Amino acid sequence: MRTVVRDPDSLARLLIMENMSVEVSANLEPWELASEAIAVKIRWFGLILGYLYINFGSPSSSPLLLNAIMTFGLGFTLFDTWYSWRGQVFLGYYPLAISCMEAIFIGLLCYFDTHLNSPFRFYYLLSLICCAIRSSSSITYITCALDCLSYSSLFLFVSDADRNPFTLILMLTVLVWVSWAANALSKITRQLVRQLRELNSALQENQSLLETRIIERTRELNESQAQVMHQDKMAGFGLLAAGIAHEVGNPLTSISSLLQILEKRNLDEYTRSKLGLIAGQLNRIQGTLRELMNFSRPVNPDRTRFEPKEIVEEALHIAKYYKGIKSRTIESDIAEGLPQLTGIRDQLVQIIFNLVLNAIDATSKGGLIRLEARRIENVVEISIRDNGVGMSAEQQSRLFQPYFTTKKQGTGLGLFISAKMIRAHGGDLSFESTLNQGTIFRITIPTREWEPQSVPPQVLSSSRS
Ligand code: ADP
Ligand code: MG
Repeated sequence: MRTVVRDPDSLARLLIMENMSVEVSANLEPWELASEAIAVKIRWFGLILGYLYINFGSPSSSPLLLNAIMTFGLGFTLFDTWYSWRGQVFLGYYPLAISCMEAIFIGLLCYFDTHLNSPFRFYYLLSLICCAIRSSSSITYITCALDCLSYSSLFLFVSDADRNPFTLILMLTVLVWVSWAANALSKITRQLVRQLRELNSALQENQSLLETRIIERTRELNESQAQVMHQDKMAGFGLLAAGIAHEVGNPLTSISSLLQILEKRNLDEYTRSKLGLIAGQLNRIQGTLRELMNFSRPVNPDRTRFEPKEIVEEALHIAKYYKGIKSRTIESDIAEGLPQLTGIRDQLVQIIFNLVLNAIDATSKGGLIRLEARRIENVVEISIRDNGVGMSAEQQSRLFQPYFTTKKQGTGLGLFISAKMIRAHGGDLSFESTLNQGTIFRITIPTREWEPQSVPPQVLSSSRS
């Protein structure tokens, strides 16, 4: 025997309400669950009332037969209740079979009771209401037809004395009327349930959209925080460097003045030449300090026009103080006649500087780093190629994430911030890398006039990694 099993969600809900334990599947609508519970209650109510009537009120001459028919109904109701407890509908796939059985059952009860006037005729109404709330409109109207047929047959089978056409017409009218009313109400309920479902799914969709947005915004916030922290650190570092340069610069100036005083004296050749050497070294230190102060000054956020060659050379000029640079070969090949670029000059210098430092870190002694600049249609491409360690696929996939670093002293912010700054210039930062062979980073900057509003304010300050 096949049975219908209920929708898991609604079933779970009903279980909580009704304290039932059930099997679940995904066939029934939520309202079917509730309607089934109502149908079972209607049946029990009808049965109890029926038994009371047969045994205490019916003038029928065959109470035994009536009790027997009623007991058949009791058996059916017990099955229905049992299935209902398990979250199923007894004979759920055969609603017409149930309707047919009920029509015969009620017809027999009426026949063995007081015929057309038997109170059991009201069972037809209960049967119709149960059917309307559980089944489709067509099943309800067919059930109505079956009930009408059952009652009409009764009319034919009873004696002429009991045959009252008015009772028949009235009952048939009431049956059709109740079918229509119960069906209309049930339709409204179904519509409401459908609308609720649609609203619920729209709500869930919106909720997941909102969650995605929150995740996205949280990521953006984390990135901005990382950027701000890095900028703070670099600003502090700049101040510190400027302070140190100033502190060291003062005694150096005194030493240099003293040297000049000494050089004016009558000195032997050896001392003079050594003093000359000291003066030369002092000059070098002062030059380095000047560059350090220059480098650590706050970034100038003004847009200017400049040659690509200028920014490459300036980046290399600063990079020459980086450890290990002397044991690498740095080549630069800047094509002639490149168009001027517009942007925040300091930022572009820093981007190239970051990439050169990364290339130095990636290569070992004797490594080669090559910088090239050329025009490709309406962009200038500056590439920094090295023959260093390269990157694995996993490293490459995380390259532009903030804090991704493989270095002991690394910050993992250099590429992340460089990429942001270059995008703010309307350009792009891309790379190709082969493990143990080397890496090439390519910066492309559009040659057209750059729109100021495309640069977010947070990237307007210094950043070096
Ligand atoms: P950091 O230099 O502080 O580590 P970056 O954002 O500049 O931060 O670089 C992130 C990581 O990307 C580096 O730690 C390194 O693993 C990898 N990387 C960057 N440039 C290169 C390169 N030219 N060759 C190999 N790996 C590189
Ligand atoms: Mg770096």
